[in-house]
Amino acid sequence: MAPEAASTPAPRSLDDARDDPSELFDERLDHAVRAFQQSRGLSVDGIIGPDTIRAIDEARRRLGDRLLYHSVSHPFVGDDVGALQERLADMGFDVGRPDGIFGPRTEAAVRDFQRNRGLAPDGTCGPLTLRELKKLERTVVGGRSDVLRESTRLLTRGPSLLGVAVAIDPGHGGDETGAVVDDVCERDLIADLASRLEARLLASGLEAYQTHGAHESPDETERARRANEIGADLLVSLHVDSSPSSRAQGVATYYFGTARGTGSAVGERLAQLVQRELVARTDFVDCRTHAKTWELLRHTRMPAVRIDLGYLTNTHDAAALSSPEFRAAVAEGMLAAIQRLFLPPDLDPPTGQLRVPVVSTR
Ligand SMILES: [Zn+2]
Repeated sequence: MAPEAASTPAPRSLDDARDDPSELFDERLDHAVRAFQQSRGLSVDGIIGPDTIRAIDEARRRLGDRLLYHSVSHPFVGDDVGALQERLADMGFDVGRPDGIFGPRTEAAVRDFQRNRGLAPDGTCGPLTLRELKKLERTVVGGRSDVLRESTRLLTRGPSLLGVAVAIDPGHGGDETGAVVDDVCERDLIADLASRLEARLLASGLEAYQTHGAHESPDETERARRANEIGADLLVSLHVDSSPSSRAQGVATYYFGTARGTGSAVGERLAQLVQRELVARTDFVDCRTHAKTWELLRHTRMPAVRIDLGYLTNTHDAAALSSPEFRAAVAEGMLAAIQRLFLPPDLDPPTGQLRVPVVSTR
């Protein structure tokens, strides 16, 4: 090895743009970045920010590229982990929700699989385990067990909401105000909405927790960690949007979902219910429900919904948000959506995979 002796310039790639965006950022790349962001369920802004860099790193990984195991300090994250989880889930091994992160549950599922196939159960996905996975590919075809597990867990609770724990995540706090327009700030509106929702949930026999106090604004991973730690059954994250255009208006909801079509089926259902209730109870424009891989949605272990409730930069939305009656109606709508989630009879399965037994009407 003669270090640096025969150094030739490395081929330019999207990766290099991370070091010096100005060098490579022409219009073509801008289109490519936007298309990539769209395909990965990220915010489509053409900016190679931390989320996009992470997604680029993750998208390059193919199952078999590297040894996968549960690393406590630096968990493996990527499409290869997602593919492994999906294969294991297809075969009925309990990986939880395939999220592309190799955590303890994925490790346990790999061990189960290894035991099942007569391999040494070391929890590491190496060449032998990969060969077994390959052999069994397509031999088991069925409903996605993770979807069924998540759905049935909630359904088996029945219509009683007693003891259901909801984590309420106010989008901002402390010095982080979020959007501010004419002295009206997102942080304060959301703090008010969060405490209204908390009060309504508690009064209805549910448990409610806020992910942080008014004095702080932890990052999304930390918010998710806290919700996971208290074992919340659902998470509702609250935001108000803003836009350079004063014409942008309306309410949108988001749940965890990937470009591969995997994600949280119950999260999707809850997002749809919240969207429906809020559109029905207010005169806000329906900006619909969308799948995203944002950190908070991705790291939460329970169905999670983010709500962007109107635009502070829009006169109509801002006026409504400033009214306490309006915020009370929104809190009521969210409570109604959560209640509906637990009412099985009229449930229309979001993925077409959940079958509610049909009772014959003689
Ligand atoms: Zn916000």
